[in-house]
Amino acid sequence: EEKRKKFAALIEEVEQKFSTPTALLRGIADAMVEEMEHGLRADPHAPLKMLISYVDNLPTGDEHGLFYALDLGGTNFRVIRVQLGGREKRVVTQQYEEVSIPPHLMVGTSMELFDFIAAELEKFVKTEGDDFQLPEGRQRELGFTFSFPVHQTSISSGTLIKWTKGFSINGTVGEDVVAELSRAMERQGLDMKVSVLVNDTVGTLAGGRYVDNDVVAAVILGTGTNAAYVEHANAIPKWNGLLPRSGNMVINMEWGNFKTERLPRSEYDSALDFESLNPGEQVLFILSVYFQLYVGLKEFWFSVPQIYEKMISGLYLGEIVRRILLKLAHDASLFGDVVPPKLEQLFILRTPDMSAMHHDTSHDLKHLGAKLKDILGVADASLEARYITLHICDLVAERAARLAASGIYGILKKLGRDRVPSDGSQKQRTVIALDGGLYEHYKKFSACLEATLADLLGEEAASSVVVMLANDGSGIGAALLAASHSQYA
Ligand code: ADP
Ligand code: MG
Repeated sequence: EEKRKKFAALIEEVEQKFSTPTALLRGIADAMVEEMEHGLRADPHAPLKMLISYVDNLPTGDEHGLFYALDLGGTNFRVIRVQLGGREKRVVTQQYEEVSIPPHLMVGTSMELFDFIAAELEKFVKTEGDDFQLPEGRQRELGFTFSFPVHQTSISSGTLIKWTKGFSINGTVGEDVVAELSRAMERQGLDMKVSVLVNDTVGTLAGGRYVDNDVVAAVILGTGTNAAYVEHANAIPKWNGLLPRSGNMVINMEWGNFKTERLPRSEYDSALDFESLNPGEQVLFILSVYFQLYVGLKEFWFSVPQIYEKMISGLYLGEIVRRILLKLAHDASLFGDVVPPKLEQLFILRTPDMSAMHHDTSHDLKHLGAKLKDILGVADASLEARYITLHICDLVAERAARLAASGIYGILKKLGRDRVPSDGSQKQRTVIALDGGLYEHYKKFSACLEATLADLLGEEAASSVVVMLANDGSGIGAALLAASHSQYA
């Protein structure tokens, strides 16, 4: 009885900390719009970088020829080739191969990483069959999808701002990643031109637009999270080039770094932040906390990167669940008198496993129980402990999905597509392309995201907004952009 009360109190506390009422989400969406504007003005303190992609035209459907793409951004990279047949035949043939990146290369040198990539690409090019045709005398061309923040200097060049998602490689920050890749291809003896460099969100947007002409934004929910959208070029104060003829410019928001004091952060989030920083950053972090307390700033965590991403994306959700379970195991003996030692291990609970537990519909939660045993070494969790675990998965996934939906709602607000026109003009159809393993595979997450977005929009506006799965659109998108920016076009 005593124990049950303790659980109830602890769980109620978690529920409260993880709650995201609709009014809160509306405030977060408004903050998103404000921060988008800050970023577009190049406000030095803006958390959203709102990077200019140099993509001012998206695919039309007329693209044709043989093009390659390389998609680098997670634990895998993919090489892709497509034979495009123009408006009538569209994508005639496509092939791809996925290669996992050996972990030691994710923390090695830039040259080792790019040499590995170029070697794999070369192998892939050698398997090109008769379905693919390169006109006589032409060089093969490639679209490079690179999903790390890049300061783009043209459509086909850009310098790396920082590595994220577990990559930490010496000597690439500040370098032109296209030059690095091109040099590695030369060392490999591979004759290929990198025609475009795009972020995966921009690639997904391009791939989505090819499929559906009403796509205006793309959101990735995978290991990390990010978004890109089509902005009016004259709404970008920091753009001082010529106004593109299309009047548009695709912006890579780098929204994982979004922050506002309205985000409902719990102690689990702050602890995760702190431990994910490297020791050098920890010292700086502590100093900045003192400094900010001293000068009385309320946003004392302003130096922490990727606040939004850490509440939403696949790399972190399982870890947040683990932290809450650990607390319950410590304070209320959730899994018996001893705390399971494995539960103390950082990142041991991965989001796909969390998702598998969350989707267990058996009456005794036997699949969830099996996961607890396999992953955490908990042999005989009580039925109550299993139900509590399920509930925690629900709280963490729901918060993530609702926060992601509020971000998308923010983009729609920025574009003025969050409401039906009041002047009686025709309703505009709006499509958002979504991709990433989290969105694709975690059904309760994606269902909650879609329901929340519909709720925020209201019935009438929601009827003209469509969320579309753009499965692996980023690779095809990069190939399509390579086609429209071909040296022969
Ligand atoms: P990346 O983001 O690295 O480019 P993906 O888009 O394929 O790669 O996303 C992979 C991520 O998606 C994984 O890190 C994981 O967090 C999440 N994920 C994959 N499968 C599932 C699943 N079944 N349930 C929940 N999340 C999943
Ligand atoms: Mg990806």
